[in-house]
Amino acid sequence: MTSASSVPFPTATIEGYPRVGAQRELKHALEKFWAGNISAEDFHVATHALRVDTYNHLHGLGLTQPYAIPADVAHYDHVLETALTVGVLGSGEDDSLEARLEEEFRLARGNADTPALEMTKWFDTNYHYLVPELADTPSFRPVAARVLRIVEEARAAGHQVRPVLVGPVTLLALSKAAEGATTAPLEHLPALVEAYAQVLSELAGAGVEWVQLLEPALVADLESASDEELAQHARTAYTQLLGLEARPQLYVTTPYGAARAGLEALAEVGPEALQVDVSTVTLAAEPNYVEHIIATAAQVSHLVLGAIDGRNVWAANLHQVHELVAKVKEALPEVTVGVSTSVSLQHVPHSVGAETSLPVDVAPWLSFADEKVAEVVALAAGPFEAADAFARAERVVRTRAESSRTHNDAVRERVEALPQGQVQRQPLYAEREEAQRALNLPQLPTTTIGSFPQTAEIRACRAAHRSGELSDADYVEALRREVAHVVEVQEKLGLDVLVHGEPERNDMVQYFAELLDGCVVTENGWVQSYGSRCTRPPIIVGDISRPEAMTVEWTRYAQSLTDKPLKGMLTGPVTILAWSFARDDVPLAVSADQLGVALADEVRDLEEAGVSIIQIDEPALRELLPLRREHRAEYLDWAVRSFRLVSVNARPETQIHTHLCYSEFGQIIDAVAALDADVTSIEAARSRMELLQDVDDRFYSQLGPGIYDIHSPRVPSVAEMAELIRAALRSFPAQRLWINPDCGLKTRGYKETEAALRNMVLARDEVLGSGAVQES
Ligand code: GLN
Ligand code: ZN
Repeated sequence: MTSASSVPFPTATIEGYPRVGAQRELKHALEKFWAGNISAEDFHVATHALRVDTYNHLHGLGLTQPYAIPADVAHYDHVLETALTVGVLGSGEDDSLEARLEEEFRLARGNADTPALEMTKWFDTNYHYLVPELADTPSFRPVAARVLRIVEEARAAGHQVRPVLVGPVTLLALSKAAEGATTAPLEHLPALVEAYAQVLSELAGAGVEWVQLLEPALVADLESASDEELAQHARTAYTQLLGLEARPQLYVTTPYGAARAGLEALAEVGPEALQVDVSTVTLAAEPNYVEHIIATAAQVSHLVLGAIDGRNVWAANLHQVHELVAKVKEALPEVTVGVSTSVSLQHVPHSVGAETSLPVDVAPWLSFADEKVAEVVALAAGPFEAADAFARAERVVRTRAESSRTHNDAVRERVEALPQGQVQRQPLYAEREEAQRALNLPQLPTTTIGSFPQTAEIRACRAAHRSGELSDADYVEALRREVAHVVEVQEKLGLDVLVHGEPERNDMVQYFAELLDGCVVTENGWVQSYGSRCTRPPIIVGDISRPEAMTVEWTRYAQSLTDKPLKGMLTGPVTILAWSFARDDVPLAVSADQLGVALADEVRDLEEAGVSIIQIDEPALRELLPLRREHRAEYLDWAVRSFRLVSVNARPETQIHTHLCYSEFGQIIDAVAALDADVTSIEAARSRMELLQDVDDRFYSQLGPGIYDIHSPRVPSVAEMAELIRAALRSFPAQRLWINPDCGLKTRGYKETEAALRNMVLARDEVLGSGAVQES
């Protein structure tokens, strides 16, 4: 397969393409199938059509060379798909379509008897993958047929596609030992490489000439292994795979950042093609990366420059990117150099062309997946062949830089006048705690995280309002009724600190983005978050400011309905940034400061409206943590600062809460404490309060480790929650402990929510009554 007559690697390609479908076909097929509304066969027909349409579409966009189109297909998640293909998960049987789908979705979503696999964020993105679990003595039973079927299907439609698998090093680096197992997953690498070898040889037998293996683990400092160790693993694994007699040519990719020792290891063992991420963001974080690549890649036969940023939505500066490519070509005359995207395009929406209501001046600045494919094709063709595309790119770069939409002098001046370095709310926590006694809260106060169930009626109202069927006044009226209902439910349950339930928010980031100047939102810009779940990230286009109060009316109304304190709800700066497309013309820290002061004005307005407890959610704090260790302190500095800017001028008697979820906090627990919130609620139930081990005495303020997992409809018993409270009390003082769920309740139904909250209050009462807590 690797003889001189082999098909060369395409000169232009992409790392991957959104799987969800321009009309969210995959989401709809999945949800209908799960609901039992369509058969397995219908599901297959729908996803088959989506795949083939995608290949035709990409061919039409200019990916015409053999193997230029990646077949990065997955019904639910690409890590799960690879794990099933190489036999890390699954029975190893290749049964009927029904049985295969049953197995795949059981692993992804669980069923009555089996919990779903854990889900966690894929590198520093908002995409979640399923975490494979390995026993101490796993037996890998690969099912090459999974990928052979994809190849055949594409051939039948006239396309020579390139199968994509997560590479063996990354697959294990992202896996975990199954419950009770003690062997680190990476120790299973030699056996797993055999499984890959089998899949590769079957692909070779079917005449496949190129396969793509993703190795982003090589760009990250992971907990599971050091950079050097991962590089050594890559050396061993790829020496073995490249030594196989019958195999396709290997295209190994290192998206999401700069590979260091791993790049040297790969260059040394020499896959037929090697991709590096040279996007502007990656080069900004690793300024000598291009030099490192040039010094390392002289013996690589085909080097692919991932020069078009696959993670952001800004049109590329083609001339600048072309210069970079030219520089590498000149420095490596023996190497063929091709171009691609820095990462899979799965992180951006399908097409700017699907948007009809973007501001006319902004639309040309943007480049979603389809536009990025065109950029790659133009870049490969060069400035003479693709003169129009280069000229257009130049115009876009200029008009965007000159546009008044990106600059707001008042915002700039305000932010520049802020003190440098860290800001500190005064007085310090101990004194604030005194001032906040006026809230008169009981011991072990109970609260929720903010949202209440987003019922079908609320969603229907929102849709009717959007389409113009429901007037503004009627919409507001319906939401007010819902707020009143939420308050009443909480009063009945006997919760101590109430919330308004957030029914007016379609999404905790988009809601604010729609109200802030400097952001735009899309109509169809869906991006897969996990499985069938998609979000529509807003786009930050310029300096951010708050033309008027965003949450005050809802909060004031809810507070007017109760004598209990009602908590105002804001989304924090880091989370707004993380779940939007950020600007590339200013550092993230600049937008974070701007969001910080805009939200500080909201805090002031809430205080003036009589709100005495305000929560600033930062669930994404961990997600933006840089992949390389030495960049983390700087990130945490500006992230913590932006949060502190929101609360810095709050009155001492205003109790500031924050909420975090979605991840392991061990690594960033110091930064969480440094937010200097008065009360921090954190997801903890699923890990059974493990988090408290990291807390020890670094946490001087109040803490609400979640005592029930809101991700499933299951209602935890009083005894179960009381046990978790007692566990928390063993390592954290009662005087500073709060009782709350793990996260917001928007994805739940009312019935289970009320039952669970009732049990939560009863569990608190039981612990108090049992004398586990002394009066202070
Ligand atoms: N206040 C938000 C809610 O309850 C927090 C959501 C989150 O942490 N993701 O929905
Ligand atoms: Zn949460």
